[in-house]
Amino acid sequence: MRHRDLFTRSNRLRLRYIVGLVAITSLTLTSFLGSMSSSVAFAPARSELARMDMPSPKSDVILASVSAEADLEEGIIQDIEQDDADKAVAPLLYALESEGNLAGGDVMGPAQLKDMVAREDVIEIGAGDTIGGALQVAGVGGAAAYRVVKAMGKHYDPRSIKPGQAISLRMEPSANGMELAALSMKINATTEIVIARDTQGRFVAVLDKKQVILHTKAAKAKIETSLYGSAARAGIPASIVAEIIKIYSYDVDFQRDIRRGDQIEALYETYETEEGDFARYGHVLYANLMVGGKKIPVYRYESKGGVVDYYRENGTSLKRILMQTPIDGARMSSGFGMRHHPVLGYNKMHKGVDFAAPRGTPIYAAGNGTIEKAGRHGGYGNYIRIRHSNGLKTAYAHMRKFAKGMSSGKRVTQGQIIGYVGTTGRSTGPHLHFEVLKGGKQVNPKSIKSSVGEKLAGKSLKNFKQEIFLIKQKYASLGGDTKFANNAHSD
Ligand SMILES: [Zn+2]
Repeated sequence: MRHRDLFTRSNRLRLRYIVGLVAITSLTLTSFLGSMSSSVAFAPARSELARMDMPSPKSDVILASVSAEADLEEGIIQDIEQDDADKAVAPLLYALESEGNLAGGDVMGPAQLKDMVAREDVIEIGAGDTIGGALQVAGVGGAAAYRVVKAMGKHYDPRSIKPGQAISLRMEPSANGMELAALSMKINATTEIVIARDTQGRFVAVLDKKQVILHTKAAKAKIETSLYGSAARAGIPASIVAEIIKIYSYDVDFQRDIRRGDQIEALYETYETEEGDFARYGHVLYANLMVGGKKIPVYRYESKGGVVDYYRENGTSLKRILMQTPIDGARMSSGFGMRHHPVLGYNKMHKGVDFAAPRGTPIYAAGNGTIEKAGRHGGYGNYIRIRHSNGLKTAYAHMRKFAKGMSSGKRVTQGQIIGYVGTTGRSTGPHLHFEVLKGGKQVNPKSIKSSVGEKLAGKSLKNFKQEIFLIKQKYASLGGDTKFANNAHSD
């Protein structure tokens, strides 16, 4: 770390160290070159390490070169060589130190010198703070704070700010004292919003996206009493489990079919930043759900026409005319089986199947169709009935509320959110009561088997088989083909 030299050798410039804020202060080209300005000189917070690890300066104009170097690190200035930057700034600095004059002719006394030092602060949003309010507390003028928040609104809703959010500020000297030159804020793992003054002094917001790298992961879990719990212990994240539930929702009733001892395998993608921070999940490439001793391996395949679907090894799609689990799996009660949730299966008396889930859990249209009824319906409470092809209908009861625009005559597509779980009508707790009707009579949803997905054939089947081979190879190479994750303790 060389910043210690920096302090001793440049003490003529009286660097101030701002404790509790960012590590060091620096003087920028901006202060002297006027409107060449903020877009050039501002370096977002992640260059701070670079600033601290700067090479030993060759001359007394160290601060200017420091700043130029930091900008080079950022790749913002790509065409200015270090030497040129030194030459450009050195005469100005010397003039400033010896005569107290700026090139522009403004008279500056030595006492004002230390006010010429730009600084970088990091502020943290507190509970109940607004961005505008926090900026003003940090010394940004009210008008500037207002304009920053307005500029930010193009890419990010300032009202969605959460306590603990850090914001890096760059304050620079101006005729009116210290002014905000630029600001940066990380809005998710890969994106930073950067707001800086343009040459006219207006605040402009841009998004700075980091590169992400694709990784593939393999995992295997044996289900004890909870699918999510067992998957989590085997390292399968909840959102991947939810995706797998969606893939199998045509085939499997996740609230009744899954039992202790069933197994799940998955090969899925994750994206990470170059620093190795998690960014987001990608696709599930392969999944194998083993229910009641029956294996259902499926593979993701994108046909030449761009149709993405999950297929069994023989090339048949998992898609069916109706889903067996028409509810958001991510929020379905994690405890599977009757022990935790006394959930009714289909029987002649009950005439439907119930899915226990928290209030507000999204409910999906089980298939493509047209809404026949959406409204109160006696003991069913808030109720939607959809007419599908083949004389089939589905009904959804006890909803808390409907999704926007749901009314009779409206067309819906399979998997579209039609409403949210509630406990309206004759109901003892939040759940979805789901019915499948054939010829006007309730039937067991499991009796509806008609497939609607594409069946791969010819060249696409050949390509698909090749893909399966590669996926299997990948799964084995990632150690997914060894033993099942050991769940020593129960959920
Ligand atoms: Zn019911």
